[in-house]
Amino acid sequence: MYFTDTHTHLFSNKFDEDRTEMVQRAIDAGVTKMFLPNVDVSTIKEMNELEAQFPENCFSMIGLHPCHVFENYKESLAIIETELEKRAYAGIGETGLDYYWDTTFKQQQQASLHIHAQWAKKYKRPIILHTRESFNDSFAIMKEHNNDDLTGVFHCFSGSIEEAEKVASLNGFYIGIGGVVTFKKSHLPEVIKNVPLELIVLETDSPYLAPTPNRGKRNESSYLTLIANKIAEIKEISLEEVANITNQNASKLYKSILK
Ligand SMILES: [Zn+2]
Repeated sequence: MYFTDTHTHLFSNKFDEDRTEMVQRAIDAGVTKMFLPNVDVSTIKEMNELEAQFPENCFSMIGLHPCHVFENYKESLAIIETELEKRAYAGIGETGLDYYWDTTFKQQQQASLHIHAQWAKKYKRPIILHTRESFNDSFAIMKEHNNDDLTGVFHCFSGSIEEAEKVASLNGFYIGIGGVVTFKKSHLPEVIKNVPLELIVLETDSPYLAPTPNRGKRNESSYLTLIANKIAEIKEISLEEVANITNQNASKLYKSILK
């Protein structure tokens, strides 16, 4: 049995002291496939170095996080486009819309998301979406671009059953479920009970959002098993079944990497 962490920032400076040991801990725990979403132009080098260190386990993706879209975002996107022309990446992201922290660059975030959607189609790679207080706009933009070449994941999904069903209505889209599902007051168990496991991929979003009992601490990919266990409990199925189905989903999403 193995697990796929579809969203983990293992190149974060929060792991500078023990990165190699931490990644090895995840592999030893059975989390053998880890997808790395880029943040901004300053993180590309560290991300690709980690991928080179663990070529069987860590896979780089490329994009500009919506919280890092500022006045000069076009310069950042130009650098990212050069990267895309240079080599293959496992996914496009993370991108998306974040209206929670700051709405100053709302228009620019939307323009950036459109460009990421075009890249995802051009390079036939899944788009990785961060959607914070922005589900309707993110969904509308995906609907506009959705065709056979556009697949993706609403990472750190925190919406309602209705919103999960909207994601399911798009061709080749999934919801990413992480540590929040283990939190005491989370509404996600109710959502998960009501949607098919075929819609779900697992993620930690390390170093953020560590699952219970590590809530508030630094998160790492080895904790993915705590999230998988919680989903098995909610669905009243075995851990193996959660691993198998979510791995299958991840394989459809990351078909250039997983077989
Ligand atoms: Zn992220």
